[in-house]
Amino acid sequence: MRLPFLLLLSSWLLFAFALAAKPVPSFRFAGQLVAPGQKLSVLLPVTDGRDSTVIPVTVFHGRQPGPVLGIIAGVHGYEYPPIIAAQQLAQTLDPAQLSGTVLLVHLANVPAFLGRRLQVNPQDNKNLNRVFPGRADGTITERLAWRLSNDIIGRCTHVIDVHAGDANEDLRPYAGYYEYTGTPALSAQGRQMAAALGFPYVVQFGNEPSLQEASMYCSREAIKRGIPAVDIECGRFGQAEADNVAQIKQALHQLLVHLHLLPGELAPNAPYFIARRTTVSSPHTGFFYPLVKAGEFVYPGRRLGYVTDLFGRPLADIVAPVTGVVLYMTATPPTSRGEGLFSIGEVPVAARP
Ligand SMILES: [Zn+2]
Repeated sequence: MRLPFLLLLSSWLLFAFALAAKPVPSFRFAGQLVAPGQKLSVLLPVTDGRDSTVIPVTVFHGRQPGPVLGIIAGVHGYEYPPIIAAQQLAQTLDPAQLSGTVLLVHLANVPAFLGRRLQVNPQDNKNLNRVFPGRADGTITERLAWRLSNDIIGRCTHVIDVHAGDANEDLRPYAGYYEYTGTPALSAQGRQMAAALGFPYVVQFGNEPSLQEASMYCSREAIKRGIPAVDIECGRFGQAEADNVAQIKQALHQLLVHLHLLPGELAPNAPYFIARRTTVSSPHTGFFYPLVKAGEFVYPGRRLGYVTDLFGRPLADIVAPVTGVVLYMTATPPTSRGEGLFSIGEVPVAARP
């Protein structure tokens, strides 16, 4: 009895040792191999036969095994703090220090960035963050989404999509994740990732048993594939303000630590989770004059602004229907009937951080 047991034990120890010493394999990306401890920058080409573009991606492949985190910036090309934060992160992130792999999309929507266009890609006037999972045979924006879905998101174990307020939007920075009760483990992972980012507010998207419709949104494509995903919204007015860039970089670093891609201690964060948001839309077309700013607390009946016609004659007051915090809002004059003016995250008075 004794000898076979010892043999079994020694062979198990050998096996365990072999597992521990097993070198991390190279990471194959876009037909190239990235060795452990190395990085690779590539431009992924996308074309529909008429229009063309590229997606700049850097792969950081760690020396130790670990998660594959997709960091996606610039799905909206006029949202600069995420794009600048991604560029800065790419300069400092050392693949030799990583346990795992980072797929960094510097700028998902190059045509919208170069064309200085809000929300849409000027090549086909489509909003990239409304067409996921995209189509292999679609328009240029649909093909961009298809590339991101399959070449980036599909390769990841975790995903973060980073946004900001556009040129017309004032915005209070926050994180977001998807809460679907039918997939509690996936939701819990997203919730923990979102809390680790360090923002005082975390918005819960979904809030239903499961996702029934098409993914539409970049990070929701990850959820559709069972990959935990989170969002950041940080930045406003289409500006590249240094404090917003720094806040995003810090949040990304926190996420790398949370996922054990990098060593370090997580700064404690106890965010308020916002399960309900209310959109206040414009009842008229004309000029909008706001009377509050993003981040302000509002209550039912509070006057948020007013709308005039094209001659400047007052048409309507905009009034808050709920108690909460203004997450983002239109802060420039043009407005069209039915367009969203405010997104209010419902926060009870007692729960204000
Ligand atoms: Zn955006």
